[in-house]
Amino acid sequence: MEKINLGKYKGIIFDMDGVIYDISEAIKKAVNDSVEKYDMNVNPDDVMEEIALLIEEIQNYPVPKILLNSYDLLKVKFLEGLSFFKKLRIAIFMFNQFNKYKEAESTIFKGIDALISKLAKHVKLAILTNNKSQYAEEVLEKFNLSEYFKTIIGFNDVTEVKPSPEGIIKILNKWNLKPSEAIFIGDMTTDIEAGKAAKVSIICVASGLAQKETLKKHNPDILVENTEQLIKLFNI
Ligand SMILES: [Mg+2]
Repeated sequence: MEKINLGKYKGIIFDMDGVIYDISEAIKKAVNDSVEKYDMNVNPDDVMEEIALLIEEIQNYPVPKILLNSYDLLKVKFLEGLSFFKKLRIAIFMFNQFNKYKEAESTIFKGIDALISKLAKHVKLAILTNNKSQYAEEVLEKFNLSEYFKTIIGFNDVTEVKPSPEGIIKILNKWNLKPSEAIFIGDMTTDIEAGKAAKVSIICVASGLAQKETLKKHNPDILVENTEQLIKLFNI
């Protein structure tokens, strides 16, 4: 497999969920519970990425914002054809199940902490999440990774979340780096799109929620299967 020449780069931007923090079990269980309870005729694997994006987006929104945007938020394939109130009922159930599982089932990917501490010796590191920046801070704190990330950008720091390149561009400007000097590591199609629009190098980790074939179609510079392969990309 190809290796990354770290000498070419001065900064690496990490997505949080799906790259550092593994919330996939909590999401999978929440989706499976919903499919079972509401007897839905969908294949959970087909809808996991859109549900993950939805949950990632709303998990730290204030309730009024969720309510005001609920009609648009619930326009997902998973809930297609159902009445608005049924959609709402299923989404609320699913979200509650996710929260129930999240603490117990979620942890950082094995080996990602060691990779981060090594990378920090060579390049600047930042977090870009569509979640709230405070959430990323809490996860980093919990797993003793705070010292490595001086820059954390969440939805509360930008006007447009990923797939907009705004967050990446903001970080590059702060670092005073050219796009060619930075790598963005994400796990979703929205990450690949944001990276492309910002013209940085993109590594995508197919860590479980988005299907590998879908990610491949979006053409990241490098696509790896999991954290183990991600670690092997770097000669450090
Ligand atoms: Mg992610």
